Amino acid sequence: MSRKVIIAGNWKMNKTAAEGKALVEALKPLVADVCPECAEIVVCPPFTTLAAVVEAARGSNIKVGAQNVHWAESGAFTGEISAAMLKEAGAEFVILGHSERRQYFGETDETVNKRLKAALAAGLKPIVCIGELLEEREGGRTEEVLARQLEGGLAGLTGEEMSRVVIAYEPVWAIGTGKTATPEMAELTHNFIRCTLNDLFGREIGEGVRIQYGGSMKPENAKELVAQRNIDGGLIGGAALKAESFSALIHNAIAK
Ligand code: PEP
Repeated sequence: MSRKVIIAGNWKMNKTAAEGKALVEALKPLVADVCPECAEIVVCPPFTTLAAVVEAARGSNIKVGAQNVHWAESGAFTGEISAAMLKEAGAEFVILGHSERRQYFGETDETVNKRLKAALAAGLKPIVCIGELLEEREGGRTEEVLARQLEGGLAGLTGEEMSRVVIAYEPVWAIGTGKTATPEMAELTHNFIRCTLNDLFGREIGEGVRIQYGGSMKPENAKELVAQRNIDGGLIGGAALKAESFSALIHNAIAK
C-alpha cells in the first residue's frame, strides 16, 4: 500500500506571530516544487502564532497544525484551547501526546485519548506521538511501552477514525539530543507499531496509517529514514525552525 509522505514541523514554544509569518514566507518558494501528491508539508506553531501562519500559508502547499487541544468544548479550563477554536483559527492538524507534554505537563494515555476523540469529532487531523524513554529501551521494554501507549491512546476509535490519524514514533532519547535511531533500528520499531495497528484495527486500516519518525531528523539523515518501508515521514523539531533546513529535509526525504 502506498502512503503519502507527511513531514510536519513542531515549532514548540518558538516563533512569535511576526517570526512565524516570516518563516512561512521564506519557506513557501523553497518548497513550491513539492507536489501535493508527493508529500504533505505541515507546520505547527504555538497557538498565538497560528492565525498569522494560516494567513501566510494560504494558497501554498503548506498546511498548518496546532500543538495540543483540550477535550472539552468550552468551560472553566484556564489556559486551554478547544478544537473549535483551533478550527476557527485555521488549523487542519493537531499534535497530541508529545513527550514534552507527557514529561512536563502530566499527559497520560488516557488524556491523549480524550483529546484525540475531541480532535476527530471536530474534523482535525491528529498526529499522535508515542515513544520510549532511554531506560525503557535499555531495559528491553520498548515494545511493551509502545503497545501500551497505542492501546490506551487509541482506545475506542473506529477504523474510520483511525484512518484519519497519523502516528509519530519519537524515541524520547532522540528528541533534541542529536542522537537519531539508525534507519534499521527505527524501521524495526515502526514495523512493530504497524503490526500492533493491524492487530487493533485490522490490516486494511493498519497498513494505511502513516507513521512518522521523530527525533533529531535532519537534512542529512531524512532520506535514509524515509526510505524505510514503514517510515512515512517525519515530525521535526529543531530542523523545522529555519526555512532552509526544513526545505532541505523535505526535499531529501522525498528524493528517489
Ligand atoms: C520533536 O520535538 O518532535 C522533535 C522530533 O524534535 P527534534 O527534531 O529537535 O529532535
